[in-house]
Amino acid sequence: MSNSAEPRSQDSRQSTDAAMLEEAPRRPGGYSFVSPAVEKWIGNAQEYKMYDHGAIFLASNQVARVLLGNPSESKVTWSEARFRSLDQMITDLEAAIAKRQIRGIVFASPAKDAFIFGADLSEFLNKHSIDEFKEATVQGHRIFGRVRALTVKTVAAIRGACVGGGLEFALHCNEIVACKTKGPASPLFESEKTKLALPEVMLGIFPGWGGTILLPAKIGLQAIDLILTGKDVFPDQAHHIGLIDRLAESEQLFEVAENAALSSRKPWNVQGVQWSGKGVVRDLKNYAFKEWTARYGYRMRWFDQAAKKFMGGSVTSQAAAIAQKGLQSFDPTGKLENTRTALQVILYGLKNGIDAGLAYEREQVVRFIASDRTRGMVRFHFAQAAVGEAARGVAVSLPEKNVAIVGAGVMGGGIAASFASKGAKVTLSDNRIEALEAAQKRVIGLIDKNEKRGSVTAKEAAVCRQGFTTKHERTDYSNADLLIEAISENLDLKKRVLPILEETLKPNAVMATNTSSKPVGELASVLKRPENFCGIHFFNPAETMKLVEVVRGAKSSQQTIDQAKAYVRAIGKTPVVVNDGAGFLVNRVLSRYMAESQHLLGDGFYPKDIDMAGKHAGFMMGPLDTLDLVGLDVAAEVLETMIAAYGDRMTCPTFAKVLLDAGHKGQKTGKGFHLYPEGAKAGVPITDPKTLATLFTQGLSKLHAYPDLDYIAKRLTLPLIDEAVRCLDEGVAGEPGKFAAQQIDVGLVLGSGSLAIYGGPLSYAESLGADRIVSELETLHQKTGAERFKPCDSLVERAKRGISFFQAL
Ligand code: NAD
Repeated sequence: MSNSAEPRSQDSRQSTDAAMLEEAPRRPGGYSFVSPAVEKWIGNAQEYKMYDHGAIFLASNQVARVLLGNPSESKVTWSEARFRSLDQMITDLEAAIAKRQIRGIVFASPAKDAFIFGADLSEFLNKHSIDEFKEATVQGHRIFGRVRALTVKTVAAIRGACVGGGLEFALHCNEIVACKTKGPASPLFESEKTKLALPEVMLGIFPGWGGTILLPAKIGLQAIDLILTGKDVFPDQAHHIGLIDRLAESEQLFEVAENAALSSRKPWNVQGVQWSGKGVVRDLKNYAFKEWTARYGYRMRWFDQAAKKFMGGSVTSQAAAIAQKGLQSFDPTGKLENTRTALQVILYGLKNGIDAGLAYEREQVVRFIASDRTRGMVRFHFAQAAVGEAARGVAVSLPEKNVAIVGAGVMGGGIAASFASKGAKVTLSDNRIEALEAAQKRVIGLIDKNEKRGSVTAKEAAVCRQGFTTKHERTDYSNADLLIEAISENLDLKKRVLPILEETLKPNAVMATNTSSKPVGELASVLKRPENFCGIHFFNPAETMKLVEVVRGAKSSQQTIDQAKAYVRAIGKTPVVVNDGAGFLVNRVLSRYMAESQHLLGDGFYPKDIDMAGKHAGFMMGPLDTLDLVGLDVAAEVLETMIAAYGDRMTCPTFAKVLLDAGHKGQKTGKGFHLYPEGAKAGVPITDPKTLATLFTQGLSKLHAYPDLDYIAKRLTLPLIDEAVRCLDEGVAGEPGKFAAQQIDVGLVLGSGSLAIYGGPLSYAESLGADRIVSELETLHQKTGAERFKPCDSLVERAKRGISFFQAL
């Protein structure tokens, strides 16, 4: 076969002839390398062989430099074709090892800023039967197993994102070496730094190519946290917990990796890990459930019981059983069964060793891969990509920008933190000194946290801190490139303040409002330059919520919208452009969920059951939890606006107002629908019927002691889907059949966590089918007699004509 440096034919690349590695040494060249760092590394290799999706280069130190794609590939995922190439490469590597040609192997990605992103999800959507998924799982295990069985030391060299199946592959290597930043001299705040994650639980599955077994085998019970939350880990922390074996400066990545490949290797732990009961409890408590206890609070009491039972014994199977029971207590309908099973697989692997564990993982994971939930999440993945594509355009460099934020309350503080932590020069003003003090703490706290977790360096963090200023008096905004108004939600106040703010702004500055519900067009009417004005609507808490609605007012110029999108992208958030109108997109749709929660309360369902049912239905938060977070004062204003704009279907009992009059403003005052005692991380629900009756003086129906959670879930879910379909067909998020459905799903999931576990309301609606939604709504209408359950015309039309929500009517 040819070893020429010219681009080669398909046939020559597909050869599996192991003898090739014995051919005369040649220097590689003539390829277009995507990554200059990889090109430099490969540059002094002496022999090589190309595959469809891979290449092997042999260095004089007898380390095989293996690229898991050809040099010109910029994004690497595990497709069937790439698996075939890896299979062929391993055969060749085994032959070369047998002939003592190589002493170690370094696997790397040809891509510039990422290792491997995991499974190829477009292939996933083309598979339908369980057998097809089973085959893909077995195939992955077989080929990755061959990597693990190689008899020389294997090292994965990682730069950039290494997630899902990419990290699972790396875990099959003897060592993981990773660099701290993606490339040479990364400019300040370049976002693509090395990060590792196993995010499969978010797709309704869990790592199924060995990750659920090998990560715990490598780092112990801390793996539970990573696998069950799917969260990112950055280099320093990953090194600290033993996930990364060696950290390297960017320029030295391959040198360090080759040294690792030539050093002695640790044997695989095939015996299983023996635990003591104390260790289990401590580690579960520290790593796995801390975060969950914060999130689910009162539902995690089971854990304390488990802890008491465990002290002192050898408890592996009990740990599984009790953890399983505990998880079930916040998820009785089994929507999160994948997380529970993942935990079971982790515990099984730790007890029984790698081989038995892998067989168990394979058997269990297939049950989840073909579910509606996973399909919905994969659809969501593509929706996010489409929305990301639509958001691309001009870019802004934040360190060169001055951003003024007016109003330092719940939102202003979070918005300031979002910009300041990314290096913009931020001036935050408010007429209340306490608000400024609290916001200052929040901003600096976020910068400190970023520094601690390694997502910014100490130097970058110092720049961020220096760039942040607060101002008590009304100030001059003449140096601001962007001004965001985040003062109290009051139309008259905003109309009074906005022209004063505009006064000192330079003519080309972008001016925006963070209003939740007031029409952008009406606010623009008091301005001299309405074309420079739009909505930049953040969600609460602004530091963490990924969605920002960019609201196009009738007079907003395209340039203003493009600039607004660019600022939002620069702080690492997703902009969705929506048209002006009460509640825009997310709050309008979400208002149906909130309004229905008030009807349910009136019908005698306990606050705790309403929230529980919301979570079971697939929302990240219950409706009352959400109202408490938003603040009942803000929520009451928003609801009033919704009723004025959309009439009866938004009208509901005024419990929020009643609570407000009794001094319950929500989380910020420690009291809302639930109570938030000092130090509590989640709301404590009010369960005493007498207290409830006293609070809601207008009287509740008789309380349901044994509620039907599915019934509550339907009442919360179906009206929200109806509103999402109205928005779709009214064009609130753009033209239906183009990106509108995707924008709605991305907006509702990132902005409110609505039906997040199914990939958003329209993705869920797609799985249910329009005809079923119409029939369920009609049943609710008949049962309750309430007009708000009547499906909208376009939903009925879609059901009649069998039209997908992802197509235009
Ligand atoms: P907030 O009451 O917590 O904060 C408002 C702040 O504005 C207060 O600190 C107040 O002192 C300050 N303020 C009032 N008048 C001012 C003036 N003339 N000059 C300077 N500061 C002034 O309210 P919030 O929840 O932060 O809401 C602010 C805006 O954000 C509203 O328009 C609201 O609709 C919107 N919003 C709120 C949420 C939410 O969940 N709370 C979400 C998205 C958008």
